[in-house]
Amino acid sequence: MSDSETRLRLGLIEGDGIGPEVVRATRAVVDDAFQVVGLDPIEWVTLPIGHTAIAEFGDPMPEQTLKTLEGLDAWIMGPHDSASYAPEHRTGLPPAGAVRKRFDLFANIRWARAHEGVRAVAPDMDLIIVRENSEGLYADRNMHGGSGEFSPTSDVALAVGVFTRTAIERIAHQAFKIATRRRKKVTIVHKANVLPRTMGLFRDVCYEVAEEYPDVEVNDEHVDAMAALLVRTPADFDVIVTENLFGDILSDLAGELSGSIGMAASLNSSDSQAMAQAVHGAAPMIAGHNRANPMALQLSAVGMLRWLGTRDSHSALYRAADRIEHAIADTLRAGVATSDLGGLASTTEFTEQVRARLHRW
Ligand code: ATP
Repeated sequence: MSDSETRLRLGLIEGDGIGPEVVRATRAVVDDAFQVVGLDPIEWVTLPIGHTAIAEFGDPMPEQTLKTLEGLDAWIMGPHDSASYAPEHRTGLPPAGAVRKRFDLFANIRWARAHEGVRAVAPDMDLIIVRENSEGLYADRNMHGGSGEFSPTSDVALAVGVFTRTAIERIAHQAFKIATRRRKKVTIVHKANVLPRTMGLFRDVCYEVAEEYPDVEVNDEHVDAMAALLVRTPADFDVIVTENLFGDILSDLAGELSGSIGMAASLNSSDSQAMAQAVHGAAPMIAGHNRANPMALQLSAVGMLRWLGTRDSHSALYRAADRIEHAIADTLRAGVATSDLGGLASTTEFTEQVRARLHRW
């Protein structure tokens, strides 16, 4: 898409629990930002998953939804509450996992950034974790058939970790490309001292890829040391590239250090498609109360717009993303926050404040 062709067709999946509330709040700010920067309105394609899909199609992840996603470049996906589905609907992969696998969304990019106005253990944290999303120690992803976790006897359980050069190369390229647009530093996180073949391959292939990005500084850390360093010297880190399990753990740690889970944004992407998805779950306890923090999904949408902007060299998409990010930061700075951050604003009040500030910057 060039700067002159601005009509985008994007998916919108509300999901379960607080999903409908945060997805609508996200759509509202994205629509406004498009208008403010002069882009044509988005054509949203609304798709069901979770309880709505069970009611309509008898399946939490209907084939119709997957088929429609096939034809879309990007979509916003609300959380699902798989634990609340009837047993017959809990047999396959949960909806988000099914989408990640079907479309080979191999990169899980998770931001952790402190915001003025929000108390944070690490107020100077501003980093991105680039997590390999398709193999590693995740049993549901690393086999062609069956699971990578099994029990030869009732007292013995085994888990298979899969590490391939192809998957490591593509995630490393993602990390270095992102770093070239930021502070130009990548930290490779592994545990090659105890898993020299698997984690050693991960580290070594990342270093090989690093040679193609001479402007980016690179170093590596063992995951245990990294956990301590994130607390001790968070400002030292810009982009962290790591395998699936470590990325999952470190991104929750970084998210909490930089604020709260209600702020933690993420993007799942391949080279051709991207899914904006908050790190948090469906939070059923607060669903329907207009209390959910919509920031995580709004910032995930910012990531999606930048991903589209980079892919299509489309500067207006970047401008829309920048506007949303600034409006959110400005809202927090003004002391407006939802209850998870100690504030009094409802989901809709916070969103209205963000929308008002989109026009001011
Ligand atoms: P999942 O396994 O699907 O990630 P979970 O049960 O581990 O789900 P969440 O649903 O993310 O976790 O909820 C964890 C806690 O964080 C709950 O107390 C929930 O109310 C709170 N929480 C999560 N997301 C938000 C949000 N957007 N705004 C406010 N509070 C939230």
